[in-house]
Amino acid sequence: MTVIAVNVNGFPCMDASRVTANDFMFRGLDIAGDTSNMMGSNVTPANVMQIPGLNTLGISLARIDFAAPLGLNPPHTHPRATEILVVMEGTLSVGFITTANKLFSKTLEKGDVFVFPKGLVHFQQNVGYSNAVAISALSSQLPGTQQVAQSLFGASPPVDASLLAKAFKIDVPLVQLLQRKFLG
Ligand code: MN
Repeated sequence: MTVIAVNVNGFPCMDASRVTANDFMFRGLDIAGDTSNMMGSNVTPANVMQIPGLNTLGISLARIDFAAPLGLNPPHTHPRATEILVVMEGTLSVGFITTANKLFSKTLEKGDVFVFPKGLVHFQQNVGYSNAVAISALSSQLPGTQQVAQSLFGASPPVDASLLAKAFKIDVPLVQLLQRKFLG
């Protein structure tokens, strides 16, 4: 008998007889993430990696913590999801940039909601005087996150420095400086 390997985009479904309520639950979005890092932010995901029962369902959550002052969730995209964010505590400056390079941005207070359309570069920053917390819902069980600066300057193996110098209209030593920061 010939066995053919099958690749799937996502996870194979579990044996239904082994599924329990625990496969549909997650505890801990009440717990603040550790923001003691260079960006002053932390994302706690609650997606199919944490909740197996989300497989194929096209939805997930994340908690985002922001230190004060100016904790930043740096520019990034989600290749598979639109994101809708609600501020639980604090004040955030948020925005996304369209494919026509137009910035849509707002300052959000507790209770305010903002949408980041699928695939577009977006960011959030704490512009208040205390810690900020947001909860995001995303339209994928596994949204994926691509950090703009990290992916370009911290890729492994590195993207050619002269290519990046040309793309950013800067000189090669400045690209190499950035690469050292993001690869370090
Ligand atoms: Mn996001």
